[in-house]
Amino acid sequence: MYADIIVDISVEDLDRTFQYRIPGELEASVHVGSKVSIPFGKGNRQINGFVVGISDEAKIPEEKIKDIASLNLKDLTIEDRMIELAFWMKEHFASTTNEALKCVIPVKRAVKNKVRKIILPAADRRTIEEELESSVKKHHTAKEKFLRELLTEYDEGLKYELITEKMNISPATVGSLEKKGLIKVETSTVFRDSLGMGARDAGSVRERIDLNEEQQRISDDIIGEYNRGIRGKYLLHGITGSGKTEVYLSVIDEVVKQGKSVIMLIPEIALTYQTVKRFYKRFGDGISVINSRLSAGERYDQYLKAKNGETKIVIGPRSAVFTPFDNLGLIIIDEEHEGSYKSENSPKYSTREVAFFRAEKEGAAVILGSATPSLESYFDAQEGRIKLYELKTRAGGAELPKVHVVDLKEELKARNRSIFSRKLRELIEDRLGRHEQIMLFINRRGHSGFVNCRACGNVIKCPHCDVSLTYHVPGKLVCHYCGYETGMVSSCPKCASPYVSTFGTGTQKIEELINKEYPLAKTLRMDYDTTRAKESYDDILSAFANHEADILIGTQMIVKGHDFHDVTLVGIILADMSLYQEDFRCAEKTFQLLSQAAGRAGRGQKAGEVVIQTYNPEHYAIESSALQDYGRFYDEEIDFRRLMKYPPVWTMLKIMLSSEDEEELLRETDRVDEFLKGELERLKAAVKLFGPSKARIYRVNDVYRMVFYLKWNDYSLLSKLKDKLSGIGTLSKEVSLQFDFNPL
Ligand code: ADP
Ligand code: ZN
Ligand code: ZN
Repeated sequence: MYADIIVDISVEDLDRTFQYRIPGELEASVHVGSKVSIPFGKGNRQINGFVVGISDEAKIPEEKIKDIASLNLKDLTIEDRMIELAFWMKEHFASTTNEALKCVIPVKRAVKNKVRKIILPAADRRTIEEELESSVKKHHTAKEKFLRELLTEYDEGLKYELITEKMNISPATVGSLEKKGLIKVETSTVFRDSLGMGARDAGSVRERIDLNEEQQRISDDIIGEYNRGIRGKYLLHGITGSGKTEVYLSVIDEVVKQGKSVIMLIPEIALTYQTVKRFYKRFGDGISVINSRLSAGERYDQYLKAKNGETKIVIGPRSAVFTPFDNLGLIIIDEEHEGSYKSENSPKYSTREVAFFRAEKEGAAVILGSATPSLESYFDAQEGRIKLYELKTRAGGAELPKVHVVDLKEELKARNRSIFSRKLRELIEDRLGRHEQIMLFINRRGHSGFVNCRACGNVIKCPHCDVSLTYHVPGKLVCHYCGYETGMVSSCPKCASPYVSTFGTGTQKIEELINKEYPLAKTLRMDYDTTRAKESYDDILSAFANHEADILIGTQMIVKGHDFHDVTLVGIILADMSLYQEDFRCAEKTFQLLSQAAGRAGRGQKAGEVVIQTYNPEHYAIESSALQDYGRFYDEEIDFRRLMKYPPVWTMLKIMLSSEDEEELLRETDRVDEFLKGELERLKAAVKLFGPSKARIYRVNDVYRMVFYLKWNDYSLLSKLKDKLSGIGTLSKEVSLQFDFNPL
C-alpha cells in the first residue's frame, strides 16, 4: 500500500503530494489524516507529513518510492489535531481537502500585529530643557516643536505616529535624539479588542446569581461527572427564560478553574452586546469574542490568543468551534436547533457533529441547549446517546404567557378584512394604553410578497432567478435571492395594462398599517434592510430596550434570544408562512419560530399574552406551540419522519449539480443518474433514490441546479456511494458537483 503525503500544509500548495510506501507493520494504523515521519529529499532528512490519500497503485517507478519511517501518535500539537479534524470533515461532509483545511484554519497567512511605538524621555527634564534652548538658538524648528511637546507630556510619553504623521517630525530627527540618549522608543504589541469592550467597560464586578434548585441540580450533576473523568454529551431542554445561560456559566466556571478552555457557541444573531456583557461580567478579560464582522487581522489575534492560552473562553458563532485551544475542556452550543449551525458552504458541516468529534478526540464535554431542541438532538437523547435535562419553569418566577390562537377564516366570516384580528387589535390598544411594549412578528421583509398584473396574471420575476420580486418602500422591486433591484413598474411589462398591484404582506407594510391606525404609537422595524449598517442591529435593540418605541416590528431577527422586560404582547401576524414550503422540516421550523416568538412575551414582572394568527389552527405545529408543549410536537413529528424515512431516523444525501450552462448540466445529470442507478442495482440495497429533478428554485443568480436525494438507514453506505461518485467527478469543468448530508 502507498500513501500520498503532503509535507507542507499551506493551503495554496496542497496539490503537491509525495508518494511513500506504507510498511506492513503500519498498514493497519496509518489512515487519512495520520501524521507520519518520512525521509525527504536527497539527504533523507526526517520530516513530518500528513497522509491525504491511500492507494495500492504506485504512481512512479516502484524502486524510487521510499518507506514511511514511523507513525506519530504522541506529541500531536493543536495544529496536528485541527488537520486531523479537517481530513475527517472532508470525508464526513464530502468536501475537497482544500475546502476542509480552509475551514479549520481560517487565517491563511499571519497578519502583522499592530505595533504601538511610544517615545519616552530618557533624560531628566533639565537636560531636555537645555537641548530645547540650543535648538531654539540653532533655529531647528522641528526639533524645538518636538521637545516642547515632550516636556509637556513628560510622564506619559508621546505616540510615535503622532510625532511622525501629525507633527511632521522626521524619523531621522527622532533617531538622532535617541542616539544622544535623550529619548527612548518603546514598542508593544497591541491586541485588537474585537468588541471594543474590555474589562473596563463591563466593570470588574463578578456578578453572580444564586442558582435555583433545578439549575443547581443540573450543574452539580454535570460537574460531578466531569470531576469523575466523564466527558459527557448533554442536552439542556429548558423553556425560554428558564435560566439555561446561568447553568452554562456555572459549569464554565468550574471547567476554567481546572485550567481548561471553553468554546461557547451562540447564533450570530444573538451575539449582542447584552449577551456578551453577561460573560464579561462573570469572567472579565479572560474571554474573547469572535464574530463575522472581524477583520482578518482581528481574527488572527483571537486565534493567537487562544493558541497561546491567553484566552480561556471564546464566544462566537459556528466557526468558533474551530478555536485552536490546546486543552479544550467544554463546548457549549446554545440555541442548538438554529439553522445557522449548519454551514451553507462546502464542507457543509453540522457544528454539532464537529463539536462531538473534537470533544471525543480532545477529552471535552459538550452541552447543547435549547427551548425547542432539533429533532436530531432530542432523538439522540431518546435513544440514550445524549443525557437529557429539563428546566420547566421560568427562573425568577415569571409566568408563561397566555396564548390565543386566532382562526383567520373566522375573521373573514365576521367581515374583518384587516390583517389584524379583532383579538390582536383589542390587545394592542390595551397595551398602548398601559404604556407596555409590543412585538409584531412577520416572516417576510419588504412591503409585499409579489407584484402581479390583474389583467393578464403576470407575476414580475427576477431576470436572474426563478423567483418573484418583492415590493419594497419606496418604489423598489428586490430579489431576495440574488439582491437584484429595479424600480417599481407602473404598467405590466407583458400586456402594458396599468392594473398592476402588490400582494401579500411584509414588515414594511405592517409598519405602514400600524402607523396609519395608531399614529401616536412609536414603532421600530428590524429586518435585513434596517440592520445592514454595522451598528444598527444593536442600536435598534437598545432603543427598544430603553422604551424609545412602543412597538417593534420584525422578521425572525426579533424572536431570537432577546430579553425585553416590558414586552407584554407578542403578535404573530401569519403563522402559516413557514408551514407550506417544500421542505420536510417546515413543521419543525414553524414550531420553533412560534415558540421562540411566544417566549418573548412576559419575561419580566408583568404577565404576557401572545396572539397567533393562522388559517390552520388545528395543525399540530401550531397547536403544540400554543400549548408550549414540546413533547407533544416531538411525538407527532418523529412519527412523521419515521413513516417517511426522513432524518434523523434515516440518513439523507443531497447531490446537487449546478452550472450556468444548462445543456452541459443536463448532460452531466444524465451521467450521474446512470451511475447511481448502476451502483444501486449492484448493491442490491433498497436505497431510495429521488431525482434527478430541478431544484425547488431551478435558477438562482443565473446558475441552474439539478438535484438527487438518496435516503438510507445507514450513513456509511451513502458515504461510500458519495466517495465513488466524487471519484468519477464531472467531465465538464462548467458543472460543479456538491454533496450535502442531511441538508437543511
Ligand atoms: P435562558 O438562557 O434559558 O433563556 P437566562 O439564563 O437568560 O435564560 O435567564 C432568564 C432571566 O432569568 C435572566 O434575566 C436571568 O438573569 C434570570 N435568572 C436566571 N436564573 C436565575 C435565578 N436562579 N434566580 C433569579 N433570576 C435568574
Ligand atoms: Zn399584464
Ligand atoms: Zn435574483
